Amino acid sequence: MKCGRDGNFSKSELRRFGNIELSPSAGVLNYGQGLFEGLKAYRKRDGNILLFRPEENALRMRMGAERMCMPAPTVEQFVEAVKATVLANRRWIPPTGKGSLYIRPLLMGSGAVLGLAPSPEYTFLIYVSPVGNYFKEGVAPIHLVVERELHRATPGGTGGVKTIGNYAAVLKAQSAAKVKGFSDVLYLDCVHKQYLEEVSSCNIFVVKDNVISTPSIKGTILPGITRKSIIDVARSEGFQVEERLVAVEELLDADEVFCTGTAVVVSPVGSITYRDRRVTYVEGVFGVVAEQLYSVLTRLQMGLIDDKMNWTVELR
Ligand code: PMP
Repeated sequence: MKCGRDGNFSKSELRRFGNIELSPSAGVLNYGQGLFEGLKAYRKRDGNILLFRPEENALRMRMGAERMCMPAPTVEQFVEAVKATVLANRRWIPPTGKGSLYIRPLLMGSGAVLGLAPSPEYTFLIYVSPVGNYFKEGVAPIHLVVERELHRATPGGTGGVKTIGNYAAVLKAQSAAKVKGFSDVLYLDCVHKQYLEEVSSCNIFVVKDNVISTPSIKGTILPGITRKSIIDVARSEGFQVEERLVAVEELLDADEVFCTGTAVVVSPVGSITYRDRRVTYVEGVFGVVAEQLYSVLTRLQMGLIDDKMNWTVELR
């Protein structure tokens, strides 16, 4: 779908996956006017398909578009386009429990612009790919390193929206961490260099004495849809959940740490390295709290338990 600055998108169409043509002076290539989303479709045991909270992705893209001076599809246009793309690719959705179809909606300034200004034209597209586990560890503890020099977001910047440049900003720290054998990087706030923010592509939770804490949303971390869902699931399971400033020192005596995201679902953290000190958590696959939350969320997403929250959208 395309539109001009007025935001009136043309009708959507289905095309085979392939290259797209862009002007060398497209806004996205020169000034980073690009946003993306990520969501998943799961196959139920009866063969039907479940989308997980697609309207939340539509709303987050609209919020990001406002920050990036871009028009965005309406919630209805977004969700309808996701449904049409998934149905056209239903043969790629793995059987229940064997993975999912990852859906990548992308909004970009596709019009030519030479001087710094918002692009005169925008393109919204969606592509999909079947996926298994995100980390090479599979469903197994991941190993994080706290980054003390490089930051992915600053107050007043774009860290709170899913713009493409945020991901370029993490590549250097993430690549260096992977060379050293870590799974990913945990970022700190750039003002005090003391409070937890998030991992390159997921949010973080710390458990101490059965109380679950996660950094509050204040413009520098992505408001994860899995984060929000896990907070609701945890509260409905009777846990106390706090959204607040979480100091890095709290990692030292936490009982459990886990990450959440569409791609990583709920990933247990096995160790965190901070200032050359390695703190280890789970011995087995999951800590008890993360395991309970993982089990509820994944069964809900795959349609194996009743969706009391009304989060899933079923496609036949
Ligand atoms: N933080 C960042 C930086 C991310 O890229 C993601 C993945 N979208 C998340 C957190 C988790 O968000 P969600 O649960 O909506 O996938």
